[in-house]
Amino acid sequence: MDLTTIAVTRLKGVGPKQAEKLKRLKITSLQDVLFHLPLRYQDRTRVVAIGNLVPGLEVLTAGAVVSCEQLFRGRRSLQCIIEDRDGSQLSLRFFHFNQKQLQMLRVGSVVRCFGEVRRGPRQLEIVHPEFQIIPRGVDPTAAQVGETSLTPVYPVTEGLHQLSMRKITDAALSHLQTATVEELLPESAQTAVSLKQALITVHRPDPAVEVDALLEGHHPAVQRLAFEELVAHRLSVQQIRTDIKKQAAPVIASEGSVCEQLIASLPFSLTGAQQRVIEEIKQDLTLGIPMLRLVQGDVGSGKTLVAAAAAALVVDAGYQVAVMAPTEILAEQHLLSFSSWFEPLGLKIGWLKGKLGAKQKRDALESIALGQTRIAVGTHALFQQDVVFQNLGLTVVDEQHRFGVHQRLSLREKGVEGGLVPHQLTMTATPIPRTLAMTAYADLDCSIIDELPPGRQAITTVAIPNTRRLEIVERVGAAIAEGRQVYWVCTLIDESETLQANAAEDTLIELKEFLPEARVSLVHGRMHATQKEHAMQQFKEHSTDLLVATTVIEVGVDVPNASLIIIENVERLGLSQLHQLRGRVGRGSQQSSCVLLYEKGLSQRARDRIGILRETNDGFLIAEKDLELRGAGEVLGTRQTGSAQFKIADLMRDKKLLPQVKQMTDEITVRHPQQVVPLISRWLGEESPEYGNV
Ligand code: ADP
Ligand code: MG
Repeated sequence: MDLTTIAVTRLKGVGPKQAEKLKRLKITSLQDVLFHLPLRYQDRTRVVAIGNLVPGLEVLTAGAVVSCEQLFRGRRSLQCIIEDRDGSQLSLRFFHFNQKQLQMLRVGSVVRCFGEVRRGPRQLEIVHPEFQIIPRGVDPTAAQVGETSLTPVYPVTEGLHQLSMRKITDAALSHLQTATVEELLPESAQTAVSLKQALITVHRPDPAVEVDALLEGHHPAVQRLAFEELVAHRLSVQQIRTDIKKQAAPVIASEGSVCEQLIASLPFSLTGAQQRVIEEIKQDLTLGIPMLRLVQGDVGSGKTLVAAAAAALVVDAGYQVAVMAPTEILAEQHLLSFSSWFEPLGLKIGWLKGKLGAKQKRDALESIALGQTRIAVGTHALFQQDVVFQNLGLTVVDEQHRFGVHQRLSLREKGVEGGLVPHQLTMTATPIPRTLAMTAYADLDCSIIDELPPGRQAITTVAIPNTRRLEIVERVGAAIAEGRQVYWVCTLIDESETLQANAAEDTLIELKEFLPEARVSLVHGRMHATQKEHAMQQFKEHSTDLLVATTVIEVGVDVPNASLIIIENVERLGLSQLHQLRGRVGRGSQQSSCVLLYEKGLSQRARDRIGILRETNDGFLIAEKDLELRGAGEVLGTRQTGSAQFKIADLMRDKKLLPQVKQMTDEITVRHPQQVVPLISRWLGEESPEYGNV
């Protein structure tokens, strides 16, 4: 039986509605379900005593309810305190609750709950725990029924819950009893674990499995899958590059007066590095084959301007440009920059995002189709099929590691008439060490902006335990009193935007209490786009002093007057991500600081990582260190924020596989070319209607 042809709807419990949601995760066949792998695991096999809880851990714990009250501070919430036999207390907080839950959580009930522990105002707390009431006479510290193995946590989408995802994978796994997954790697791959066994282990780790090895990804089952994924990925990337380089692209030969005017209109001069990279791009554009160039440059190195110069050259030659960013906030940022540079030169910038009003969208699309819009800025909405360019000559993709290869590819398809393929410029501030870049970006030529604009002050970075939080709040107040602006970044390990949003809202309430004078904005992923935009705009205009945000502000936000950033729970984030966040300050002429708040009881590795951030502002060095230090446990939770391209492989972790990956890729290309397409489609998805044919 061929799993690729069995539709998900054949699985028990999967109706048309579920199928629709699954499709959003690019899951349409049984094989897709099997290759939709857990992001991480939860340990619900043992109950941790309240006295042993540590902030940041996701745990199963239990206790009896000693108080339960509704609070109306700022926003209605329910606080329920539970206590265990040792007298240790834990607070359970709910922002959404119903009558039935109130009833269940009455004083005296014994509760077993699961969730992420964090530091609350008075004691440790779990916000929105999953909970169940334990009947009298049952030992609450006994493991949950049926939870004898680690619980997988899957990437999900709005309206599709973990529990449903577990049921769906259960159903798919039961098919494996009768069917088998085709081994697509040649026999010479000699893997230690069969594909089937690897899938079963990863989806439903049995209690005997070495938990740490699995969590850290060194387990042979994970390695088996990672290896195949890396092979598939490299094959796909190679294919893309070969195909593209065979095609013709617009020849952009003229020196371009728009570009000259743009540069002349700037209040500063280009750095040497910017000039060099612009030259490299100019060179590519003259060749008549599609440019595939990646510009790496640290935060604040001025990549946007390099993109604008490239855009100017292309526009001058009569072609259109699409500029795409991974988040709306970042796209808006580009819209503002591009508008401020190009509108004085008489060029209007088009704007396209997911949630535009019908009329606005129609107008935007029409203007793009007619070629009135010469430069269109937007989010992934620019990928959609209904976007038709008159003659697209260049696509600029910012922070491209967040987009998959296929997404990058589909933008190239929106080419110009007459079979010409647009040039592509991608930009990233998250440098990837050279060895890794060979695989991650094998389809791209690289340019590096290794120089910051003059006059930038180095950012002072300090790490401070959360116990000294009040001191920091005072420091925030002082900075605001001096007319500066401040970011406060809340992070949570949970992939749910709701919890992230809650954390940010709580912090907002807390900060307002202590800093009643401060004008405060809030930005998080659950807010409506227009609300977000409004909040960002206010902060940019300095109508607010303090921006409380989740990591949605990570990339690109540019407010030169902001000179202090506080980042909570730094132990949760990767070094490069922290470096990105830190780069939100130090954009003006003021001395800027970054305060890293951490929970007490940091591991040595976490301390080393923080040390590196304090010692250097060099993003490339930080990336190298990140690579050296990452691994063991701390990789946990980074997959979701890291490279969007891999389901299971982790370039840093699996670095040692890369030479074999290269060898295997070459062997398949030469000796088993018929396996190329099935491997690519297994790991990178079937053609997705949403993104057009690939
Ligand atoms: P990033 O590389 O992080 O995307 P940006 O392109 O956002 O950096 O640039 C950061 C800031 O530096 C912007 O305000 C931009 O206008 C400014 N900038 C860019 N190039 C220069 C330069 N050569 N001299 C001075 N400021 C510059
Ligand atoms: Mg940028």
